[in-house]
Amino acid sequence: MEWEETDKGKEWTKEYHKQYYLKNKEKLNRQVRENLKRPGVKERKNALDRLRALQAKRTIYGVLGGTKCVHCGYDKDIRALQLDHINGGGRKDRDENRSTTKILKMHRDNLDSLKDKYQVLCANCNVIKKFDNNE
Ligand SMILES: [Zn+2]
Repeated sequence: MEWEETDKGKEWTKEYHKQYYLKNKEKLNRQVRENLKRPGVKERKNALDRLRALQAKRTIYGVLGGTKCVHCGYDKDIRALQLDHINGGGRKDRDENRSTTKILKMHRDNLDSLKDKYQVLCANCNVIKKFDNNE
């Protein structure tokens, strides 16, 4: 019989991994911690995280119309550009605490939905907007 990828099979695999994780949580977390202590591992991980964040930033900005402040047109340095939550997000939905990688992950299936929520602002315009809106 040929192996089929059924929903039931997927569920089972998911459950299996979950149970395995729960059963070996201590050991697995210890392994991760030990691994991070090895020379160079932490540095490599940080470098990789930074690279991923930059890639995520580029992807998101690309969807939002480019690496350019929508307010003043500043486009000299991507590091001075920030992702702004259009409606402020209020206190309950503090998106600036979320990293770009997380935001990208959340919208992966529908990148266009980013357009309704975010815009690219330079640091100056972002600060001014925050003051104006009492964010
Ligand atoms: Zn600006």
